Amino acid sequence: METRLLSAQSPGDLDEAASLLRAGGLVAFPTETVYGLGGLALEPLAVRAIYAAKGRPATNPLIVHVLGEKEARPLCARWPLEARQLVARFWPGPLTLVLPRTEIVPDEVTAGGPTVAVRAPSHPAARALLERIGAPLAAPSANRAEHVSPTTAAHVLRDLNGRIDAVLDGGRCPFGIESTVLSVGDGPPRLLRTGAIPRSDLEDLLGPVEIGPAEHSVSPSPGLQKRHYAPAARVRVAPAAALEGLVRELGANGPVGVLALSAVDVSGASAVHRLSGDAKGYARDLYAALRDLEDRGCSAIAVEAVPDDPAWDAIRDRLARAAA
Ligand code: AMP
Ligand code: MG
Repeated sequence: METRLLSAQSPGDLDEAASLLRAGGLVAFPTETVYGLGGLALEPLAVRAIYAAKGRPATNPLIVHVLGEKEARPLCARWPLEARQLVARFWPGPLTLVLPRTEIVPDEVTAGGPTVAVRAPSHPAARALLERIGAPLAAPSANRAEHVSPTTAAHVLRDLNGRIDAVLDGGRCPFGIESTVLSVGDGPPRLLRTGAIPRSDLEDLLGPVEIGPAEHSVSPSPGLQKRHYAPAARVRVAPAAALEGLVRELGANGPVGVLALSAVDVSGASAVHRLSGDAKGYARDLYAALRDLEDRGCSAIAVEAVPDDPAWDAIRDRLARAAA
């Protein structure tokens, strides 16, 4: 299939993207986090096509994207007070809620589990699509399974050209890192994946939040798998003082790329990206930098360790998974 490149600035192209989706097709679209690969969430065939295009294991459930609380409610068997409070504060935005699901949600979306993940994106292009379609969209990140999430339309094409109907180009994603995933319908709220919304923001509203799936949980969150969000190159993380030694060591096996945070000296590297010292700026550029180093043929990437501060939790998590 030919993958069409559509513009999120063009109302005609948005109409076209919506009609492809309504017909059961797959369209990648920008969100404030990363590009999502959308398909009709309530149509099992469309959802299966998403898994096939990504090469995603059928055991990894999808996030369902909706306009807001009204559209999320029919998908969820319960809507506890925490959900109402969280949604009032953080939607539309990069917070995904995991709740007990209703019958209308296909097993394909939930990977057969009893819960569904829902989120209302704030990106205008995502909202324009949802408004046109009038139905929820299942949308995992628009990359081949386990690869680095895409933050531009070019990244999407690099992974999925010829495998999906279209990509809607809306420029770079403002957060650049996936949504925070929080389970709320099953005892105290639990953080299933760190992400664009820091844990401290959730705790300001809810009080202390547990980390990771409950022990009895029947649906652990596969986003917690050890290796994920990973480039083709081997990734290693080291403190600034050890970075140059690491570059020398990795250099024995081929070109080495570097992701640096400070002005640390990194002679011997094939390419160096210096990312922002601010967690938000770093997150926005991280995936593009990893993909760029991969595209330049780096066989390994040496990453300067990031601060040990809660604001950097999600970034530390993604780096650890890329390096696993
Ligand atoms: P992605 O959209 O590719 O960033 O991945 C979706 C993330 O949401 C994965 O980490 C999933 O494990 C998580 N997720 C989706 N649905 C559920 C669910 N029903 N229960 C727990 N985690 C979920
Ligand atoms: Mg993903």
